[in-house]
Amino acid sequence: MKHIFFAIITAAGLMLAACTNTIKVGIDKNSIQDGTTTETAAANVEGGAKKEATAAEILSKKEVPVLCYHQIRDWKASDSKRAHDDIMPPAKFAAHMKMLADSGYHTILPDQLYDYLNNGATLPEKPIMITFDDTDLDQYTVGAKELKKHGFKGVYFIMTVSIGRPRYMSKAQIRELSDEGHVIASHTWNHKNFAQFTDEDWEIQIDKPNKTLEAITGKKVEYFAYPYGVFKAANLPKLKEHGFKAAFILSTKRDENYPMYTIRRIIDPGNYTARNLYNSINKSFK
Ligand SMILES: [Zn+2]
Repeated sequence: MKHIFFAIITAAGLMLAACTNTIKVGIDKNSIQDGTTTETAAANVEGGAKKEATAAEILSKKEVPVLCYHQIRDWKASDSKRAHDDIMPPAKFAAHMKMLADSGYHTILPDQLYDYLNNGATLPEKPIMITFDDTDLDQYTVGAKELKKHGFKGVYFIMTVSIGRPRYMSKAQIRELSDEGHVIASHTWNHKNFAQFTDEDWEIQIDKPNKTLEAITGKKVEYFAYPYGVFKAANLPKLKEHGFKAAFILSTKRDENYPMYTIRRIIDPGNYTARNLYNSINKSFK
C-alpha cells in the first residue's frame, strides 16, 4: 500500500513538473511573439503614471520558486531535529546548488521578480531566487562561494543587530556581497515578529535598519522578509509607505489583496536530498 502511495506521489510530481514546463514555454512564446511587453513597461515609467498590476493580475501569474536558507554548517550533536530544517550542511548545500545549475535553473533578483509580477517583464528560462535569512557568517563564507561556482546571485535578508557579532557577517562582508551583485535586504533590527509591531517599531525595526544597510551598501533597501515568515494583513500597506517594493513570507498562502508583499518562499531543509528539493520546488510553486 505504501509503495502505491509513493508511486502516486511520484507520478503527481512528474505531472506537476511537466505542467510547469508547458506553462513556462507558454510564457516565453508570448514574450517573443508580443515584443510590446517591455516597451509598455518602459512607457508606463516614462509617462510618470506608473501602472501597477492589480492583485488579481499578480496572483494569476506563474509563481517563481524562491528558496530560503538559514545556517550552512555541519550538524552538531546538540542540534535538535527541528533545528535541522534550518541547518544545511555545506556539502549538501553545494550539491543542491549544483543540482539547480545542472537542471537549468537561472537565479533572478528581486527587481526582476518585481518587474515580472508588475509589468510582465520576461525572466530567464527556469528562474529561481535564492535567499538567506538572519546574517549568519556561513552564508558569506560557504553560501556566496557556492553560488559563485554557478554564476548565481542571491538575496541576503539581514537583521542588523547581529552585524559584526561573532558568527555573523561584518559590514565589510555585507558590502562585498552587495558589490558582487547580490542583493542586501531587510529582516528587521532584532527579528521582532512583524505581527506584533507597535508604532515605534516602524522606526526601530524598519527605518533605522534600512539606513544602516544603505550606509553599508550605498544602495536603497527595497525588499523585506518577515521574521518567522509571519505577517499581519492590516500592516501590509505600511511597507510600501516605508519604501519597500515587495516582501517575502514562507510557504503559507499569499494575501489576496497584497500579493506583492506576501511572496512565497520554501525552506530547503537540511535533511532534504537534491531530488527532494527538486520535487518540492515543482510541487510548491504553480
Ligand atoms: Zn529570520
